[in-house]
Amino acid sequence: MAKILPRKDVVIMGLGWTGAILAQELTDAGLDVVAIERGPWRDTATDFNIGYMPDELRFAVRKDLFLSPAQEAMTMRNSISQTAMPMRDYGSFLPGNGVGGAGVHWNGFVWRFHPSDFALKTQLTKRYGARRVSELQLEDWGVSYDELEHCFDQFEYLTGTSGKAGNLNGQMIEGGNVLEGSRKRDYPTPPLKMPYASTLFIEAAKNMGLHPFPAPAANLSRPYVNPLGVSMGQCTYCGYCERFGCANYSKGTPQTTILPVLMKKKNFEVRTESEVLKINLHPDGKTARSVTYVDRAGQEYEQPGAIILLCGYGLMNVRMMLLSGIGHPYDPASGEGAVGRNYCYQTQGAGARLIFEGKHFNPFIGTGALSATIDDFNGDAFDHSKLDFVGGAGISCGSSNGRPIGYHPTPRGTPRWGSKWKKAVAETYQNSLGIGAQGSSYPVRGNYLDLDPTYKDRFGRPLLRVTFDFPDNDIRMANYMSDQLEKIGRSMNPKELTVSRASKGWNSVPYQTTHNTGGATMGANPKTSAINRYSQSWDVSNLFVLGASAFQNNAGKNPTGTVGALAYWTAEAIRDRYLKKPGALVPA
Ligand SMILES: Cc1cc2nc3c(=O)[nH]c(=O)nc-3n(C[C@H](O)[C@H](O)[C@H](O)COP(=O)(O)OP(=O)(O)OC[C@H]3O[C@@H](n4cnc5c(N)ncnc54)[C@H](O)[C@@H]3O)c2cc1C
Ligand code: SF4
Repeated sequence: MAKILPRKDVVIMGLGWTGAILAQELTDAGLDVVAIERGPWRDTATDFNIGYMPDELRFAVRKDLFLSPAQEAMTMRNSISQTAMPMRDYGSFLPGNGVGGAGVHWNGFVWRFHPSDFALKTQLTKRYGARRVSELQLEDWGVSYDELEHCFDQFEYLTGTSGKAGNLNGQMIEGGNVLEGSRKRDYPTPPLKMPYASTLFIEAAKNMGLHPFPAPAANLSRPYVNPLGVSMGQCTYCGYCERFGCANYSKGTPQTTILPVLMKKKNFEVRTESEVLKINLHPDGKTARSVTYVDRAGQEYEQPGAIILLCGYGLMNVRMMLLSGIGHPYDPASGEGAVGRNYCYQTQGAGARLIFEGKHFNPFIGTGALSATIDDFNGDAFDHSKLDFVGGAGISCGSSNGRPIGYHPTPRGTPRWGSKWKKAVAETYQNSLGIGAQGSSYPVRGNYLDLDPTYKDRFGRPLLRVTFDFPDNDIRMANYMSDQLEKIGRSMNPKELTVSRASKGWNSVPYQTTHNTGGATMGANPKTSAINRYSQSWDVSNLFVLGASAFQNNAGKNPTGTVGALAYWTAEAIRDRYLKKPGALVPA
C-alpha cells in the first residue's frame, strides 16, 4: 500500500540539469518543492575527490556514475520489421543517475542552436521547396531563438561558460562564431587556451576561407562567481572530464552552480534513491494528482503536487508519459499520436584521424569541451540547393580524452594487440589528432519511442523501446562531411590520413553520444507535438516536460545549452503566467 504524503506545490521527477534549474527558480518564486531522484546523493568533496577521481577504469570503463540496465533498461531495434532486444549494457549512450544527472559527467559543450533549427520546417520549405524535405517529418518548435535568447544567456552565466562571441547584437566579431544567432552579450569568461592540435586546425580552416572559433565550454578558463553567488575554480585541463565528476569545481554542473544555494532553502527537499513509477491523474484525466514512487527500502509513496515536472532525461520522460497514459502514443503506421514521435539522435559517422611525424600534441592535456570548431557546414548555414541532403555538422578538433586505457591511436594496418601494437601506440600517441563532425539528426516517420510489448523492469512495467536508424538524408549529410574532413585534413599535410564514413544500421554497443532527443516534442499543434511552447503537456495542464525530449529535430550541436535555455523559459512561464492563472497556457 502506498503511503500518502502531504501535498507539495511542485513535485519534480529527477534532479539533474533541468530538475535543478526548475527547483531553483520555483523555490525563488516561493513555492514548496520536492525533487524525487532515482540515484544517490552526490557532491564534489565527498564523491568527486581528487584523491580517487582520475580512476579511468572505475569511471570511464566501468561507468561508475551512470545508470545501470539492472535499474532501468531499454530495448532497441533498427526498424519496425525487427523484434527489439534489451540493451544488456548501456553503450551507444550513457544516461545519468543520481543527483546532478548526466550534468555531473558531461563534457561541458554549451551550444546555442542556430535560429533556423527552431523553425526548420518553415526555413527549409521556404528555401528549397516542400519536395526536398518530404522524406522528413519536420515540425517547427513553436518557440523562436529570439524569444529564448535571454534564457541561453542565463544558462551560460549560470555555468560560467568560456567562449568568444561571434555575433554581438548583429555585429560580427572575428575569432568568434560569426555564424551563430545574435547574442546580447559576450560569454561570462574568455575562451580556454587552445591546444596545439586545435591551433593547426584553426590555421588550416582559415586558409580555406572557413571561420574557426573556440567551442564554448563549461570548463572554466578562469575563476568565476555565478549570479547565484556560487564560486567556481579555474580548469586545470586535467583530461578526466567526460564520464568523470570534476574534483576542481571547474566544470559547470548542478553541483557547482545551483545545489550549494538550493540545498540551503527551507522550501526545497530532495529524496534520493527514490524512483518515480507513475504519474497519477485526476478522474477527468486532464490534471495530474500525484506521483507514485518507491524508495530504497521498497516502500511505496504517493506524493501529491499542484504542479508535476518531468525532469528525468528525455528518454525517461517519454517512458513516464507512456506508462502513465498521458497523451496519445505515436503510431508510425498512421503517423498519428504525439508521445514517442520524432525521436532523433546525433549523426556521428564522419571522422578523420591524422598522423604526423615529430609533433607533440600532448593529448593528456585536455578538458571535456576543449576544441576549435567551424559552423560553416552546420545546420542551414550553407546552401543546400545543389546538394542531396539537408542539415549539417559542427566540425571540431581538440584535446579531450587522451587517457591511458581509452586512447590508443595507431597507423592503418597495425595489429590489434602484441608488441607491434605497443610500439605503434608509443610512436603515434604524441603525433596524432582527430577531427570530428557532429551531425544533425532529423525526424522520419519510422524512428520513434514506445513501450516494449515483451520486456519488463523489476516492477513489472514495460521497458522503453527505441526504434531508430540513421535516415538516408542524414547518411548523405555525414558523407558530405567526410569529404570536407578529407579536404581539411589533407591541407594539414599529415603523414597518414584516415577518414571514416557513416553507414546505415545504428548500433547500440559502441559509445556515440548521449544526445537523445524528441519523443515529447514541443510545437504549436497538439496533433504533432506532446507539449506546447512552454513545455506544458497539451493533455494534462499541470504537467510540464523538460529536457531534450522537447526537440523536434536535433542540430549538429550538443543539446544542453538549448535544454538549459528551455528550462529557464518554462520556469519563467510557470512563475509569470501559470501561477497567476493555472490551466492551459496555450489553447489546444
Ligand atoms: C558522457 C556524456 C557527455 C555529455 N556531454 C555533453 C556536452 O558536452 N554538452 C551537452 O550539451 N550535453 C552533453 N551531454 C548531455 C547532457 O548531460 C544532458 O543533455 C543533460 O544532462 C540533460 O539534462 P536533463 O535534466 O534532461 O537530464 P539529467 O541531467 O540526466 O537528469 C535526469 C535525472 O533524472 C533522474 N531520473 C530519471 N528517471 C527517474 C525516475 N523515474 N525517478 C526519479 N528520478 C529519475 C536521473 O537519475 C537523473 O538524475 C553529455 C552526456 C553524457 C552522458
Ligand atoms: S578538465 Fe577541467 S573541468 Fe574537466 S574535470 Fe578537469 S579540471 Fe574539471
